[in-house]
This record gives sequence, structure tokens and C-alpha cells, in this order.
Amino acid sequence: MSEPFLPGWFTLDDKAPQLLGSRCTSCGTYYFPKLAAGFCRNPDCNGEVFEEAPLSRRGRLWSFTNAAYQPPEPYPQVEKDRFQPFAIAAVELEQEKMIVLGQVVAGTGVESLKAGMAMELVLEPLSDGKLVWKWKPTK
Ligand SMILES: [Zn+2]
Repeated sequence: MSEPFLPGWFTLDDKAPQLLGSRCTSCGTYYFPKLAAGFCRNPDCNGEVFEEAPLSRRGRLWSFTNAAYQPPEPYPQVEKDRFQPFAIAAVELEQEKMIVLGQVVAGTGVESLKAGMAMELVLEPLSDGKLVWKWKPTK
């Protein structure tokens, strides 16, 4: 079993992985990445208690862009001539209606993406073999 890139940010179920966010126990607002401590960012809420919440695996493609540069550390770096541009997607989660960024699966470029497409969460290894979540268009 491969190790996660960011332990605790997502489940390692390779068939149905889920991002792990947090949810304010007072107003129900979802956060990703987790809001471990502090105050709820909802201006109408005084909540300070957050519980771990597995997030929707599916959503709609809200926006996307082409990344022509390597993501910065802590992402593993590859040599410049081996770097393959990839697409980054902003996906609105089905249930939580929040936007979560992620890379699009290898082999799917911006030319095959369309706003409003249905997307699902999958895990793929980075260049150092550690797993990270990615977005994949669903048929
Ligand atoms: Zn709240």
C-alpha cells in the first residue's frame, strides 16, 4: 500500500476514496482542508468545535486551468524536461457545495474538460510514489 502525500487529508480506499474535511458542529459549515482549531469562519456563527467529515466523492467541474509549471514544494519535484503539464480542476462538491481544487488525472488535459462536467475523486501516485487525490471526469 502506498503512502499518502498528506496523511489525514483523505481516506486510502482505492475504490472510493474520500477527502476528509471538518464540519462546524454549530452551523454545519464544511471546511477543507480541516479546520482543526479556532473559530468558525461563518460570520453568523460562534462555533469552535469541529468534527471530521468525509466529503462527497463527486461534484461538478466549476473551473479549470492548465498548469504549465511544477507545483511548489512540498510536491515532489521532477527534472524540468520530464515535467508534463497537467490540468487543475476546481470542483463543486455534490453535497457540501464547496469548491475543492485538485489535479486532474494523468492523460486528461484541459482540451477534454468542460465546465459543468461530472467529476469524481480518485487517488493517483505522485512522481515519488505517494498518493494524492485527483479529479477524474465521469462518463
Ligand atoms: Zn459554524
